[in-house]
Amino acid sequence: MPETRVVARQINTEQVVGYTLRDSRYLNITNRCSLRCAFCPKFNDQWTVQDYPLRLEHEPTIEEIIAAVGKPEDYREIVFCGLGEPTLRLYALLEVATRLRHRARRIRINTDGLANLVYGRDVTPDMEGLIDALSVSLNAQNAEIYNLHCRPKLPGSWEAMLDFVKHARDFVPEITLTAIDGLSGVDIAACEKIAQRLGVGFRRRVLDVVG
Ligand code: SF4
Repeated sequence: MPETRVVARQINTEQVVGYTLRDSRYLNITNRCSLRCAFCPKFNDQWTVQDYPLRLEHEPTIEEIIAAVGKPEDYREIVFCGLGEPTLRLYALLEVATRLRHRARRIRINTDGLANLVYGRDVTPDMEGLIDALSVSLNAQNAEIYNLHCRPKLPGSWEAMLDFVKHARDFVPEITLTAIDGLSGVDIAACEKIAQRLGVGFRRRVLDVVG
């Protein structure tokens, strides 16, 4: 789910857990996903994003993630986003957010919005007071196109993602749905209308630009 331009870069001979894009610090905490997006770099044998090799040898511990942040106050925001779905490590993510909360200006999760489906409960109240923003991959205006491009592991994923957004509105101040312009059958205007109907923001992404 990564995107944007690199301004600062940290050369790391070990696995890349923290990486900087523009003025934000990104955290790569898992390579696991609840989707198998056909357009995903990792399913095309490409693990390097903006020169950062994001393949993990092991999932970083909470301490390793905190160390990878560096100084949170130096960044405009801390973003949980790597080549994987961060909420698959929800409890580690929440613990890291708790520890960073008093120092980070803003904490965001880039997510597929399937956490409620995966955990079998509404996890959005857990984010209250910890997570400032969610970027949720809407990716398509209907389940058919979504399934074509995102190849979800769990049935009902597109509907569950929308339901997640509805619940999250009560606990996370800023929510933005995203869709990638350039994928066949994806109607960006229709995606934007869905966001409007839900009362959340929308951002059009460009294929092969991570973030
Ligand atoms: S959700 Fe992101 S990381 Fe996961 S398969 Fe899709 S594009 Fe790749």
